[in-house]
Amino acid sequence: MDAHLNRRQWLKRSAAAAAGWIAATKSATGWTDVWTGRHFRENSEPEKTIRLNNNESHFGMSEAAREAIIDTVDGCGDYPDDHYPELKELIAARENLQPENIILGAGSIEIITAALHIYMAQGGALVSAPTYFDFADYAEKAGCPLHRIALTNRHELDLEAMEKKTGAGVGLVYLCNPQNPTGAITPRARLEPFCRKASRKALVVLDEAYHDYAEDPLYSSMAGLVRDGENVLVTRTFSKIYGMAGLRVGYGMARPDIIKSLLRMERNFAPVSSLSLRAAVAAYQDEEFVRKVRRQNQEVKSYAGQELRRLGYSFIPSHTNFIIFKVQQDSQELAKKLEHRSFLVRAFKFGAANWIRVSLGTPAEMRVFIAILKDLDGAEERANDGEKIEVCRLPDLLAESPHS
Ligand code: PLP
Repeated sequence: MDAHLNRRQWLKRSAAAAAGWIAATKSATGWTDVWTGRHFRENSEPEKTIRLNNNESHFGMSEAAREAIIDTVDGCGDYPDDHYPELKELIAARENLQPENIILGAGSIEIITAALHIYMAQGGALVSAPTYFDFADYAEKAGCPLHRIALTNRHELDLEAMEKKTGAGVGLVYLCNPQNPTGAITPRARLEPFCRKASRKALVVLDEAYHDYAEDPLYSSMAGLVRDGENVLVTRTFSKIYGMAGLRVGYGMARPDIIKSLLRMERNFAPVSSLSLRAAVAAYQDEEFVRKVRRQNQEVKSYAGQELRRLGYSFIPSHTNFIIFKVQQDSQELAKKLEHRSFLVRAFKFGAANWIRVSLGTPAEMRVFIAILKDLDGAEERANDGEKIEVCRLPDLLAESPHS
């Protein structure tokens, strides 16, 4: 905080400074975020908790999806067509696959856990450490042994170590690209040869939940491996860029024989509700909406990156809708303090460091988050640790910290 301002004056000033940029309307008591309708008091933290811990999209859903939901409401007395032909055909056409290559689920996690339950009979699951928390959690609950391979000291997947570990005792390899929680991508040039080799010994699950955010030319989906008939399952979701996490729709792409075995695990003949399905069909075709959210997310990411850099934090260049940065204090304690100031984030410890992962909210939310972080973490006093984090280059201003 500026030494000559008290907290009230400082927050008031930062809110006012934000007014030109944030999408907000001003009222007598503060201002309202036009994206979320949330009210921010001018001199304090938000009145309502802001969830920046689950990487949901705060940019809403496509208008076409909203209209599809309204149009479908009257038909909800009937079960959905459990074969979901329309959405499968749309996905298959875009991915140059056949509908037999597609499975839908109530979120992509449903498909991933179905794979876990089938392939754990052949051995444990090989994952990076850290990895997407829920996958590790479900594996543990299912009694599936987890073989964890630490990230390299550049915070990248250690594919060489993973390849050595693949073999007897491993039934399934689970990777996210872009990665959660780092937000980094694994370039196609490294990932594809790994997948081809590893999939000879185990099913390779490629979780592409953040696929739609990744714009770096080094990144590529692994859906091409499905076309080539490799032993892989590629999953995607409507929970992120489409802004439909609450509707629970995800899909998987794999060889027809793998899809058939996943379908045998289904405990619900129609896991995707009619409303969710119609919304997904409409959203999937609204490519302009996806482009718009990607652009907005990129703007917020640039802003968050600039501010974190200005406050002296090292962060991993993100290819997603979240950003992870290194903190000097215990990350869980800092997360708790942020929670008391109405912001939920995720705390991590890896590579002998503490990290906070924050989802990218609306511009208004990020403004207030940065202000509160600065207030809580004593940024002025904290010396930058000078680490240069360069997982994968981003062709924009986030790529490097001036402090590094
Ligand atoms: N996979 C990854 C890597 C995620 O980060 C998430 C959600 O945060 C999911 C899957 C869950 O997706 P869904 O909502 O489709 O189940």
